[in-house]
Parts: sequence; C-alpha cells; structure tokens
Amino acid sequence: MKKKKEIAIIGAGPSGLSMALFLNELGYNPILFDRKNIISKYSKALGVNPRTLELMKPFGLTTKFLKNGRRMTAINLWKGDQHIYKNDFSKVNSEFPFMLIQPQKESEEILLEEIQSRGIQVEYDSEFVKYTKVDSKYAITLKDKNQFSKNFDFLIGADGGHSQIRKQTNIRYKGYRYDEAWELFDIELEMNVNSEEGHIRLFPDGGMIMIRLHENIWRIAGNLNSILNYLPKKSVIGKIHWESKFRINHKVAQNLVKENIVLIGDAAHLHSPVGARGMNLGIEDAFISSKLINEDRIDEYTGIRKPYLESTVKRINNITMGMAGNSTISKIIRSQIGNMKPIFPIVMPRVRNFVLGIDK
Ligand SMILES: Cc1cc2nc3c(=O)[nH]c(=O)nc-3n(C[C@H](O)[C@H](O)[C@H](O)COP(=O)(O)OP(=O)(O)OC[C@H]3O[C@@H](n4cnc5c(N)ncnc54)[C@H](O)[C@@H]3O)c2cc1C
Repeated sequence: MKKKKEIAIIGAGPSGLSMALFLNELGYNPILFDRKNIISKYSKALGVNPRTLELMKPFGLTTKFLKNGRRMTAINLWKGDQHIYKNDFSKVNSEFPFMLIQPQKESEEILLEEIQSRGIQVEYDSEFVKYTKVDSKYAITLKDKNQFSKNFDFLIGADGGHSQIRKQTNIRYKGYRYDEAWELFDIELEMNVNSEEGHIRLFPDGGMIMIRLHENIWRIAGNLNSILNYLPKKSVIGKIHWESKFRINHKVAQNLVKENIVLIGDAAHLHSPVGARGMNLGIEDAFISSKLINEDRIDEYTGIRKPYLESTVKRINNITMGMAGNSTISKIIRSQIGNMKPIFPIVMPRVRNFVLGIDK
C-alpha cells in the first residue's frame, strides 16, 4: 500500500465510493467521510450505462451489477398514445448493449461492500465543516467532533450539489436553474406497454419518462402537472413507493481542482436526469482524477475534463428542452415529432450513444 499520499474523500455517494475503489486499486488507502448514517433509501439514479460497466469490470463489480439489475434494451418515443420510434440499444457497438436498470441505493450498497472488503474506512455521521491548511497538508473539522486526527495530502469533494468543499474553495458553480417543478413517482402500475423497455411520452404541455424499476414498480417523472393523469389509457395505479418534486439545475464548476482539492460528481456538475448521465459521469470523474492523482498530474484535470462536462451538460439541456421545454420551438418539436421520422436514422443513433455514455 502506497504511503505517500493521504487522501480524504468527503461524501460517500456513488462518486465518493467509486473514487475510493479506483484509488485503492492504485495502491492508496483513502478515508471516506459522510454526514449521513446509512445509505439513502431513495433510488435517484436508475440507469447504469455501458461506460460505467466497462470501468467497473476489472474490479469484478460489473458481474455483481449485472446479476442484480435488469437490462433495458430500448427507449420508445411516443406522441401521446401514438408510438413514433424505438431507439434500440442492442445496435450499439459495446460489450454491454443496454442500460442496466438498478436503483442508486443498490449500486451504492454493492460499491460499499466492495470497498469495506478492501479495508477502506468509511466514517458515517461525520459532517465536513471546513478544512485548514497545516504546512502543505489539510486538516479537516467535522461537525460536533474534534478536528480529525490525521491530516491529508488530498481532499476529494464528492459531497454533492451543495458541496461544502466547493463553497470553501470559492470555486464558482456556473449555470442556471429552471423554476418549473418536475414530478416524480416510484409507483406500482399495470400498463399495456413493453415493460422491458423505457418510454418517453410527449404532450403539448411537456413530457414524461416511464421506466420499470423492478417487478411492477415504475419510475414516472416529468414536467406535467398531475403527471399520473398522463399515463397510457387503462393503466391501473397501485401503491406509491416514493413521491417527490425536484427542480432542474444545469451547472458546471469553473475549476475542478484548487491546489490538491479535487471536485467530482454532483459537486462538479449538475443537470437534469434526462439522459441518465449524472451518476455515471461522477464515476467517470473518479476514474480519471484518481489516475491523475497517481501520476502527479492532477493540475491537468480541469483542462482534460471540463470541456467534455460542459458540452455534455449542454446536450442534456437540449434533449431535456426538446422533451419538456416551454419555448415555442420545444412545443413545435413535440407537435411535429411524427413528421420528423426521416431524420431519425441520423439523429437517434447519436442520441442513443450519448445516453449510453459511449459518445467518447
Ligand atoms: C430523480 C433523479 C433521477 C436520476 N437518474 C439518474 C440516472 O438514471 N443515471 C444517472 O447517472 N444519474 C441519475 N441521477 C443523478 C444522480 O442521482 C446523481 O448524479 C448522483 O447521486 C451523484 O452522486 P454523487 O456521489 O456525486 O453525489 P450524491 O449522491 O449527492 O452524494 C453526496 C454525498 O455527500 C454527502 N455529503 C454532503 N455534504 C456533506 C458534508 N458536508 N459532509 C459529509 N458528507 C456530505 C451526502 O450525505 C451524500 O452521501 C438522477 C437524479 C435524480 C434526482
């Protein structure tokens, strides 16, 4: 085990847990700190994309993910109840030609089990408050506790969209937030649609996504008021497992590194869940930044990663606005989607590769 670099990871969500795994593989023994006391029960991210499955494969995690999740092989586009197009994932050039549907809680549980089996320390109930520079190292202060006993060469900010680390470094989080609230349900449903595939339904007022989680529980999300009224005809509604509202932010941190403080995951970028990229991008950040730390090249991280993050957030915004935007152009796209079939063979494979994370 390399002793040279002591590393603290603030935040044990999917980005922080992956960072711990990748660093450990490179010979480091990082410590994770998280303010929560247990993995969140909410299933935010559902889609584990082929890129993440490729990254996790050498560690044996892909086998565990594939055993646990279910394979979604296509996304269908609907204009109301009229079927328009099936974007078939089996046509992509990947070892994993599907989106693996696995609730975020389960992805985190598998990652946590792996890193704990490697002896990595995870300090729960440990809210990071601030860091202080001591010589060339960082001391960290935790809420309601003394300063942590050890000082660190690197701090990893994997502490989510409201990152305290990012705030203390004064790194600007540039972007905007849409005021409109999106509705979300994880709900038991009987519906007359292919439950192995996902569905995007477009309406004049906005759009919705329908993806089956497991058994007869579906994730329904979108910007339609009283969204359950927009389900396919004759749908039978059962128990609600989770109901929430959220607002969409599109933001990218203007620097991903300051000295030896590194931002990854939602601490570095936020965007709509359309496209299923958030968690997957955070895992990619962890992969790239862990290698750069190991190679003493972390000062190159912003230059390498930020242009891709910015273009990705921009594309997610375009897809989200096409599906759900209130502008005249968004409404025209939705109303005319049936007439756009001639351009689908050009556009849809690119959308498919983007969503599956194999665009780069
Ligand atoms: C409805 C919805 C659906 C989504 N669907 C997808 C999808 O299908 N695919 C996808 O890739 N992404 C999806 N996402 C996005 C995904 O959930 C996030 O991108 C992902 O959780 C980011 O992981 P993270 O580890 O960077 O941050 P988080 O998951 O936010 O984890 C941050 C961790 O830091 C801890 N923390 C925060 N502050 C402190 C502090 N001061 N001290 C100590 N600990 C702290 C928190 O307790 C938390 O555990 C979705 C999001 C939503 C809301």
